[in-house]
Amino acid sequence: MDLTTFVRGGLPDESHARLREAIPAGFFGYPRGMPPADRHALTYERFRHAGTAAPSAGRLLARPPELCALLERAAVADPALFHVMLLHYTLTLVPILRFGDRSTEPVRRRLEAMDRFGAVAMTEAGRSNSHLMPATVARFDAADRSFVLTTPDPAAVKFPTTAGHPGVPKLLTVYARLVDDGGERGVFLFLVPLGGGDGDSDGAAGGDGVHVLPAADNPALSLDWAAVRFDGLRLPFESWLAAGARITADGVFHDPLAGSRAALSMCAAPYVWRGIIAAGAAAYRAGAASLTLHSVDRPTQGRLAPGRPLIDHRNQQEAVLTALARGYALTAVANRVKTGAAWSAGGSASASTWTPWASVDLMLPLLKAAVTDLAEDTAGLCRTHSGAPGFLASGRLNGYRGLAHAYLSAGGDNQLILFDVARAMVERDRYEPPDPGQGVFDLSLEGCLDAARALELRLVDELSVRVTAPGSLGDWNPHLALAARTATALADRVILEILQDGPPRLRPVFRWFALDWAERRAGLLLDEAIAVPPLIGRIRALRDELCAELMPRTPELVEAFELPELHEPPVWSTSWTSPASQH
Ligand SMILES: Cc1cc2nc3c(=O)[nH]c(=O)nc-3n(C[C@H](O)[C@H](O)[C@H](O)COP(=O)(O)OP(=O)(O)OC[C@H]3O[C@@H](n4cnc5c(N)ncnc54)[C@H](O)[C@@H]3O)c2cc1C
Repeated sequence: MDLTTFVRGGLPDESHARLREAIPAGFFGYPRGMPPADRHALTYERFRHAGTAAPSAGRLLARPPELCALLERAAVADPALFHVMLLHYTLTLVPILRFGDRSTEPVRRRLEAMDRFGAVAMTEAGRSNSHLMPATVARFDAADRSFVLTTPDPAAVKFPTTAGHPGVPKLLTVYARLVDDGGERGVFLFLVPLGGGDGDSDGAAGGDGVHVLPAADNPALSLDWAAVRFDGLRLPFESWLAAGARITADGVFHDPLAGSRAALSMCAAPYVWRGIIAAGAAAYRAGAASLTLHSVDRPTQGRLAPGRPLIDHRNQQEAVLTALARGYALTAVANRVKTGAAWSAGGSASASTWTPWASVDLMLPLLKAAVTDLAEDTAGLCRTHSGAPGFLASGRLNGYRGLAHAYLSAGGDNQLILFDVARAMVERDRYEPPDPGQGVFDLSLEGCLDAARALELRLVDELSVRVTAPGSLGDWNPHLALAARTATALADRVILEILQDGPPRLRPVFRWFALDWAERRAGLLLDEAIAVPPLIGRIRALRDELCAELMPRTPELVEAFELPELHEPPVWSTSWTSPASQH
């Protein structure tokens, strides 16, 4: 497989070209000096263009590699555009397409025509773990078969949402507890159109029952952030996505799927995680390309080697190769998860102690956590090795860093995901410990994989003993840091397994990634006696050899990312004429 095909995730030429045209080069940046509200309106206008130029939402959702490719392109062009696209296609349209009926057709049509944009009101501002059980109430009124949506206290205000621009019509998907005269019925989704209620009547809400409280602009991810409060907003019966439940004509509630209600209300989550993983990998690639381009022609004045280009210095070479290796490694992970259910470990009704995510799937949220964690670190690496231009010339690297940073929390809090996965590991819930390796830690890709397996086994055994020790049964609180390390070890092992199956051309690149992994985990590997000193010295020696092999390949590695948009001249050189030519 050639590198370009690998980076494209095997997407055919025609689809690839269409998705690139949907997000043209002009979307890589905003006009200068634009006020935030105009900028946000432009983001949605661009989304309208992209959404109508791309294949239909139904087709994109049926073909995860295509949806991921569109989201990847959006993330690289403009992280804010990526965020609203992810909300629209996954968290908004997936439940409607899965559970909607004739009554949701008007709103589906408007969403697919980009006349409304999806926004999500899941998180509540004032309580941790609000996804497990929101406090927002949708009370069924049997008199007219409507629902009354209420925010019971200030802590239950929905925040953050992207509902803040008054001129942009939204469809808010609200997560609320359904309550009727018989009591609590579980968490369901309610569709609340906001603004733009003229035209095709889909019953836009407004007025007294819903209060949108715009938040200050946030340059780290500039969008129309807002808090939303419901004061007895009356919703028609059709606003309810019943998802298998029903209320009879005489007001009796039936839910044959009550046992899996939490997972059903989170049915969009796997699409979200695939999108984040793919976008994270794309942002890595763009960051790595940007750092490489910055380093190539930049002369240095240091006294040891005046005039030598920045890329000739070993520290810069290591940063470039680490960024490229992580870019390719995470692309391999993204390629694996993009293929639908292939990398899902499935759901389990009992696996939600801190969040609902592990009950939907085990591996996808774990990989989302691993990718965003590394993405943030890599974006920082690329930014610092690009100096002031990396911070100020285009804002692009800060944008990728902001995106990765945001998604440590968004799409499911990473730390809480790790806790739930660790608990599933201890309980052998959809988890099989790996076979112990050969016990030879030789720093090859296979050797690192063996070491990762050994580390995972040690940590899961240690955690199991601690949380089941007499007197501490079920007491996870003192062991949360170990829990996070244990789940991280599983993610590391899975990523190295994916790389082991990678294309032969990328073998040296993945060996660099494995050395990078060994250095990042050196403390743990030594602490658990999986490696012996001098570990860092051995990593350095192997890295020196690989550096010589890989540096000549950097142009080819960057070229395969297909990012000509990043080659734009920097701001200080665009109107430059040499003093000599003025005479
Ligand atoms: C940029 C961005 C965009 C977002 N967009 C949306 C959106 O459009 N719609 C929406 O509904 N939500 C959105 N979110 C919210 C996101 O889903 C939540 O931030 C995330 O799920 C975590 O919830 P929380 O912020 O309440 O964190 P918390 O649940 O308070 O967790 C934060 C941290 O507190 C600690 N912690 C919390 N609970 C426990 C516990 N029980 N035990 C031990 N430690 C604990 C952990 O360290 C955890 O990392 C967005 C978030 C961001 C950052």
